[in-house]
Amino acid sequence: MLNIYNTLKRKKEEFVPLDKSNVKMYVCGPTVYDYFHLGNARSFIMSDIIRRYIEYKGYDVTFVMNLTDVDDRIINKANAEGKTSDEIAEFYSKAFFEDIDKLRVKRASVNPKATAHMSEIIALISKLEEKGFAYNVEGNVFYDVVKFKGYGKLSGKNILDLESGARVEINESKKNPLDFSLWKRAKTGEPYWESPWGNGRPGWHIECSAMSCKHLGESFDIHAGGNDLIFPHHENEIAQSEAVTGKPFAKYWMHFGFLNIDNEKMSKSLGNFFTTREVLKNYSAGVIRLFFSQTHYAGPLNYSDSLLDASKKGLEKVENLIYRINDLNKNSNSTNNIVFDFAPFYKGFEEAMDDDFNTSKASAVIFDFVKEANRLLDINSNISNDLVEQLKGFLEKTAQDVLGIIDLNQKVETHSNKVLEEKLIKLLIDLRIQAKKEKNFALSDKIRDELKELSITLQDSKDGTTYKISEVH
Ligand code: AMP
Ligand code: ZN
Repeated sequence: MLNIYNTLKRKKEEFVPLDKSNVKMYVCGPTVYDYFHLGNARSFIMSDIIRRYIEYKGYDVTFVMNLTDVDDRIINKANAEGKTSDEIAEFYSKAFFEDIDKLRVKRASVNPKATAHMSEIIALISKLEEKGFAYNVEGNVFYDVVKFKGYGKLSGKNILDLESGARVEINESKKNPLDFSLWKRAKTGEPYWESPWGNGRPGWHIECSAMSCKHLGESFDIHAGGNDLIFPHHENEIAQSEAVTGKPFAKYWMHFGFLNIDNEKMSKSLGNFFTTREVLKNYSAGVIRLFFSQTHYAGPLNYSDSLLDASKKGLEKVENLIYRINDLNKNSNSTNNIVFDFAPFYKGFEEAMDDDFNTSKASAVIFDFVKEANRLLDINSNISNDLVEQLKGFLEKTAQDVLGIIDLNQKVETHSNKVLEEKLIKLLIDLRIQAKKEKNFALSDKIRDELKELSITLQDSKDGTTYKISEVH
């Protein structure tokens, strides 16, 4: 039984999807004005793991992650670089997909873009206006928060608390400081669309209400995003959607803790960030995913190289077991009666994940499994192919398919292949030295050139010859 901590109810609840045959999940995606940082990556990866585990439980998941492609930050960047907002959004959307693919985040069922949903957005604002939840001040349309009875139910505050503590946009035309923009009148130099209120562009919150409704329906199962989105973004999404439909919007609200640096949220505006691209140069997707998995998604997590290094060491243990198993696979055609009890590992993994996606406990179960499997291989040199497949199967279902920390389909060289490769290259290097000594330059050049063809470059220096293998694409 899967339990999820629901921000809306402030407690863990049993997960019962609205439609058993298809779980519907919406995650607030990036504003495409720059490369995303590792804090954003935490939210993307944890929502991916949640989706993957729900799939592991046997459900089909319709997973929607929007792209905000009209926003002040995009407009500012476009102006600074002498480009159009569209050019900026397109460039960074492409970069976003490249980076999430590298992180092994599964592609969403749909990645709707705000600019492609203008008619839905305008229709939604019109309905809010008709129902008396919105007011127009000279082409700027605002949501009238006091009209919505449940305002504050997600963040657990009443309107008066929110008014005193809120950092909300100051605008003389608003009736209440908490009222927020649904439609913004066009300013010179900004992209705009035609609407019943004149030319302008939508506010950020209405985009998510319109796109989630279009792709998942008026009510759906899970809505997720970083902690920073609880108020005002998600609070406002609820106010907009429920005011129009009169139905509950998302059933379970999930929020990810921040990735911090020195206990401060990693963010573009504070300047204390690393882009995911930069981090991927030093750490693999598997290491980054394990680093995030080792802390529960809801808690804070401090970035540090030493924690990433520790995850790297941890991941090597899992990878070394895969090398070991792959080596075995080739030699073994025995059928023996060695038994390995997989049940406690599957049970441990599922119990951890069923408890509000406790990936930290789940990864500990994988490490226990690695230890036990190594012990088994230490004492038995002859393992049946069947058992080999079962050992791999556990890693495939848990470490690969759910946590995504390994990829068994990636060409993994076995230890013996690597050792053999090194020995053969060294042998050729020795033969080339011998040929040179005998002044057989035709042969020594042939060895160098043909190795080069195989992407193996020899480098001569006074200390001898070394080699470098470049990646073949
Ligand atoms: P943005 O592109 O700023 O709209 O953010 C995209 C997603 O990343 C949202 O779900 C944010 O809540 C989330 N996010 C932003 N900063 C962090 C952080 N430091 N740690 C975790 N999630 C974050
Ligand atoms: Zn959103």
